[in-house]
Amino acid sequence: MKNPIDCETANERLSEFLDAEVPEEILEAIREHLKLCPDCKVRFDKAQRTITLYQVTAGGKEMPVFATVKLTEAMQRAYAKQG
Ligand SMILES: [Zn+2]
Repeated sequence: MKNPIDCETANERLSEFLDAEVPEEILEAIREHLKLCPDCKVRFDKAQRTITLYQVTAGGKEMPVFATVKLTEAMQRAYAKQG
């Protein structure tokens, strides 16, 4: 089966995906992509873990969107450095 979306699109959608702000069909497409693309899977898993950790630390309060976006950007920069 062909990837429903490419890596670039998946990465563009990363923060929205984590905020669950994307339509269900996009969520599905991303999930499908993650099944087929180990690189993106690792990236999404790490981002998800970091945010879950943050939410637990913050007492389960919902994280503001801007914080998620900033965090995502920071992580993307960090991963870019790692290669
Ligand atoms: Zn990918």
